[in-house]
Amino acid sequence: MMFTTVLAAVDLAATPAHFVLEKASSYVAEGGKLQVIHVVEPQYVQYSFDPTFTGSLTRELEDNAREAARAQLAEVCAPYNIPAEQQHIVLGRAADKIHDAAQSMNADIIVVGSHARHGWRRLLGSTASAVLQGAPLDVIVARLPEKAD
Ligand code: AMP
Repeated sequence: MMFTTVLAAVDLAATPAHFVLEKASSYVAEGGKLQVIHVVEPQYVQYSFDPTFTGSLTRELEDNAREAARAQLAEVCAPYNIPAEQQHIVLGRAADKIHDAAQSMNADIIVVGSHARHGWRRLLGSTASAVLQGAPLDVIVARLPEKAD
């Protein structure tokens, strides 16, 4: 099955992003587009009760994180000739932002990765399951090489 717009969600820190991109690109139809997103999850999303709070220090850290992520994403996308306008860095909760981006670009499918951990309960990591839950469109979970944890 091939699709016109495929959105690949990549985690630059832990997962080997190229596995997700490899899988995602295999679903792109002739003349279709591979869009790639990485979500920078800011500190305040994790511990602040007030999601509207952004102190200047936090903002500076976020800007730095966003720039670092942009450079890393460009590097990861280079072997696949994915143009800069198809590389998206956004700030927020990963699953929500992936859903929002998929809808706004009218994607046909989302591709995420999942480590083949032992035991069925640990098959999906937290981001992969959050992306699946309440997904506004089909999600393909690419199985990544085994991770010992
Ligand atoms: P996890 O559930 O954290 O093991 O992550 C599984 C998959 O979710 C990764 O392979 C990516 O496809 C996606 N993912 C995780 N974190 C992010 C992120 N910050 N931005 C975009 N995609 C992510």
